[in-house]
Amino acid sequence: MTNYGYVNGWKETPEQVKKCRELKHKIIEKNIGRCRNQYTCEICQYTYKVDSSDWKKNKNRDLFADIGLFSTRAELEYRKERRV
Ligand SMILES: [Zn+2]
Repeated sequence: MTNYGYVNGWKETPEQVKKCRELKHKIIEKNIGRCRNQYTCEICQYTYKVDSSDWKKNKNRDLFADIGLFSTRAELEYRKERRV
């Protein structure tokens, strides 16, 4: 099982995660605390975490979008900003 740590610290989305999303694998989401979630793909055998409380100050919002991770509020704000 590969552990990619927190998405918040990523500089870019790992290739494995991109491929996994293209293949539309079912990602298992698990709440691990306030604003913290862990995501695991059992097929690819990797896991990563997201701290969505970091959203506002985080510069990696495109990354969050890239891997399809948003809290509902954050997603709405993002869409409004980007008009998508
Ligand atoms: Zn996968």
